[in-house]
Amino acid sequence: MLDIHKIRAEFPILSQKVNGKPLVYFDNGATSQKPQVVIDAISKYYQEINANIHRGVHTLSQLATDAYEISRVKIQHHINAKHLHEVLFTSGTTHGINLVANGFAAILKPGDEVLVSALEHHSNIVPWQMLCEKTGAILKVIPMNQDGELIISAYESLLSEKTKIVTVNHISNALGTINPIKYMIEKAHAVGAAVLIDGAQAVPHLKPDVLDLDCDFYAFSGHKMCGPTGTGILYGKESWLNKLPPYQGGGEMIKEVTFEKTTYADLPHKFEAGTPNIAGGIVLGTAVDYMNSVGFENIQQQEKELLAHATKQLLEIEGLKIYGTGKEKASVISFNIDGIHPYDIGSIIDKLGIAVRTGHHCTQPIMNYFEIPGTIRASFSFYNTKEEIDLMVEAVKKAKTMLS
Ligand SMILES: *Cc1c(COP(=O)(O)O)cnc(C)c1O
Repeated sequence: MLDIHKIRAEFPILSQKVNGKPLVYFDNGATSQKPQVVIDAISKYYQEINANIHRGVHTLSQLATDAYEISRVKIQHHINAKHLHEVLFTSGTTHGINLVANGFAAILKPGDEVLVSALEHHSNIVPWQMLCEKTGAILKVIPMNQDGELIISAYESLLSEKTKIVTVNHISNALGTINPIKYMIEKAHAVGAAVLIDGAQAVPHLKPDVLDLDCDFYAFSGHKMCGPTGTGILYGKESWLNKLPPYQGGGEMIKEVTFEKTTYADLPHKFEAGTPNIAGGIVLGTAVDYMNSVGFENIQQQEKELLAHATKQLLEIEGLKIYGTGKEKASVISFNIDGIHPYDIGSIIDKLGIAVRTGHHCTQPIMNYFEIPGTIRASFSFYNTKEEIDLMVEAVKKAKTMLS
């Protein structure tokens, strides 16, 4: 069991007041808060070892390089990647997806098919549309049902030898649905297609095992799992990373440069052009250590209780509808109240110190499917409490009275 008071004390921002009220932070799906160890590690890096990596023979450069590479090893173990060079540092999920989509421009031919799911974040839709425009490949969409679950039989009928890549999120940011990705990966592989998993919303809640999943790519961001912004990881299977061309050209990613010809560095450096977010990469390792010290079993237990409590309390409000009612769900609740715009509720409860997100959550196709302008989304982290949920429910009731 989590000692929730001890945990909360580790996050300085959580004891703040906002608009004169104690902060209730339920926008964890957009970004998580940071524990003191992560905040301290950032200043420690700049105070003690700041230098560029992989370049100098001098001591600081070696210390910075070692710390950066140690972080890569931590992340390799965390996600259970077979090889260290399959773990690429990126600036976030968006960067990782664009890297892969760009690489597939060298592989796809007109008439090939790319499958995306109806549940995707814009950052897992737009890069594939751009890829299809460039190559003449065709984008197909795996449909969803009213519960916000993917229709797996429809997915299976969309798969064919024309399918070259399937791209789907592990957990939906807008609805919280946990997708049956292991099964989907197996089916895609049966027709020879590669699979990219957008793990942005999964890594705050669970420890992905890329070997067990057998995915070809797994992308995530550091900032949603207690790490710094501007950090992320793209896991790619060695065979695919060798096949894909580099994403950006520049320093660090080369073996030899002449004006006639450049040869590229070995993995992972082939995909890591330029000076990276060194502090961020190192501290992402600190964040991963922190999450593991809390323990993913504890995290899941706490979040499961929060989800059940919030679902029950919210559904007692008349006219309230929850979007995303699938069987497998993470601690995210998207909802609306009959006849009231989500933005109006969000603004009123913000005045009461409660931070939720309102709008389309970068998933306009999902909103179009439900024929709504957006939702109010409360996304819970392990450091949230049932008391906070009660405060939110009271605030939503108050907002409803004011607005109706
Ligand atoms: C947040 C999010 C992204 C984008 O992550 P960035 O950190 O903005 O690159 C992509 N997919 C999902 C499901 C997300 O929740």
